[in-house]
Amino acid sequence: MKRVESHDRDENGLVSLAEVCHKILSDPERRQGAKSHAKRAKNRKIDERIYLVRPVGISSGEGLKFIYKGFEKDDGLRSNYHIRADPELFEKNTRPNNIAMRRFPCFCQPCVDKMMEPIATRYTGPSNMCIYWGIFKKGDGKTGYNDWKLISLLPKPKLYKEEDDLEALEVAVHGIGRRMEDQMHVDRFGAYIADDEQYDYYLFKCTVAPKQVDKDEVFEFDGNEFPVKEGELYWEGL
Ligand SMILES: [Zn+2]
Repeated sequence: MKRVESHDRDENGLVSLAEVCHKILSDPERRQGAKSHAKRAKNRKIDERIYLVRPVGISSGEGLKFIYKGFEKDDGLRSNYHIRADPELFEKNTRPNNIAMRRFPCFCQPCVDKMMEPIATRYTGPSNMCIYWGIFKKGDGKTGYNDWKLISLLPKPKLYKEEDDLEALEVAVHGIGRRMEDQMHVDRFGAYIADDEQYDYYLFKCTVAPKQVDKDEVFEFDGNEFPVKEGELYWEGL
C-alpha cells in the first residue's frame, strides 16, 4: 500500500493524483510482473509496461521531434513524395532509422527492376535507366532530380522526448493489432514471428476468433507458455 508523501505536494499543498498514480504504477513489481513469472516473461517480446504522466495542456506527440540527414541544399522532406522504409536498410532487431526517399514515385520497368537489386546498389547512383530520365536529368548530366537518397532520422537535440516516442509506438502497435483483429476470422490463415533458426515465421489457421483478455494470464500450448496481459488481444490456431 502506498501513501501520499509530503513531497508529492506542490507549494500550495495540492497533490497531483496523476503523479501519485504514476508512482504506484511504476513500481517494478507492476512493470514486470511478479518475480515468480520471470521465466514466462522471457517468452515475451514486450515485457515491460511503462506508465507516463501527461500534464494538463501538453498533448501527445509534442516531443516527437526528429531531424533528417542526407538531403542536399534546397531539397528536403516536403519535396519528396516517395518514401520507402526498406527492412533491409537496418540491422535485424534495431529500430528503423534509415529511409529511402525520392521526389516522385515511378514504377516504370527500369525503376521497378532497380528495386530488385541487392541492397548495396538499390538506392545508389543516378536513376538514368528510368524512362523519364530526360525530364529529371540535371544540368551536369550525371545526376537527376529523381535519384534515390538515403535519409537518416535522428532525435532532435533537446526537443525529442522518448516518452512521446514510446507512446506513438504503442498507438501504432495497438492500431496494427486492431487491424489484424478485423481481418482474422475462424479458418483464415495468419503468420507470426518464430524464434527458430530455420524459419522466420510460422503460418497458422485460426480456430478461435480474436479475444481480448480481461486479466493477466498464461496460456499453455505444447509445453510452451504464452503470457498475455490485460487488454491484449489473442487468438488461437493450428
Ligand atoms: Zn522510372
